[in-house]
Amino acid sequence: MSGQGVSRTLTCRAYELCHNARRMTHSATSATARFVDAGAFGAWLARARDALRGQGGSDVPCGDCNGCCTSGYAIQVRPDDTRTLASVPARVLMPAPRLPPGNAMMIPHRNGHCPMYVGGQCSIYRNRPQTCLDYDCRIFSAAGIAAGGPDKVVINRRVDEWRFDYPTEADRCAHRAVQAAAAFIRDHGASFPGKRVPTAPTGIAVLAVKAYTVFLDVDVATRSAEELAAAIVRASRDFD
Ligand code: SF4
Repeated sequence: MSGQGVSRTLTCRAYELCHNARRMTHSATSATARFVDAGAFGAWLARARDALRGQGGSDVPCGDCNGCCTSGYAIQVRPDDTRTLASVPARVLMPAPRLPPGNAMMIPHRNGHCPMYVGGQCSIYRNRPQTCLDYDCRIFSAAGIAAGGPDKVVINRRVDEWRFDYPTEADRCAHRAVQAAAAFIRDHGASFPGKRVPTAPTGIAVLAVKAYTVFLDVDVATRSAEELAAAIVRASRDFD
C-alpha cells in the first residue's frame, strides 16, 4: 500500500473512531443514563504504561462491576503470587501454556465465572493474583474497541460507560493517537514483520498503549504501513 493510501486510511479511521465513540456515548446516554468517571486521559495513560512496565498496578474504580470475574478469562497465576497459590485449591490450577514452568492458569467455569468467584464476590479478594490487580478495562475505552464478543458483554457495558476527561489538548491528542494505533494494528496485520501482531482485543489495546507515540508524529500520514508497523514494534520494545 502506498504512503498516501495509508495516510488517508489512518486519518479517516481516526476520525471515524472518534465519531463512533461519540455516537456510542449518545446511545449509552439514552439507554442507560450512566457514565463512570475514568479520570484524566493523560494521567491514566501514564499509569497504564507504568503498569505495563511492571511499575505499579492499576487502581480501578470497579464499583459494583464484576465483569472481569465473570467473562470467561483464564486467570494467570505467577510463581510469585504466593498468597494466591496458598489460597487456591490445586484442582482449579493448570500449567500455563507457552509460559515458563511455575506459571499456572485458573480456568473459568462453563458459565464464564472464575472458580474463585463465589456468592457474587471474589472468595480470595485479599489474596487475588497480580493479574487481577493489574486488569483495567479502561484500556478498551482508551483504544476505542470492545473487550470481546458475547462472552464479554458485562465488560463491554462498562467499557461503554467509562468517560475520560481531557484537561489539556495533549490529553485529547494522546487519546486520538491510542485509538489510531489500535485501528492500525487491527487493520494492518499483514504489514507487521512476519505478520506477528496481536489479533485479540486485549493484545491490540495493550500494543496501542505501548506504541501510541508513533501516531503523535506529525509525519505519520506520509509513512507507509510497513514503516508504521516497524515503528510500533520498536516502540513496544521499550516495555520488554
Ligand atoms: S481471582 Fe478473584 S478477582 Fe480474580 S478473577 Fe477470580 S474472582 Fe475475580
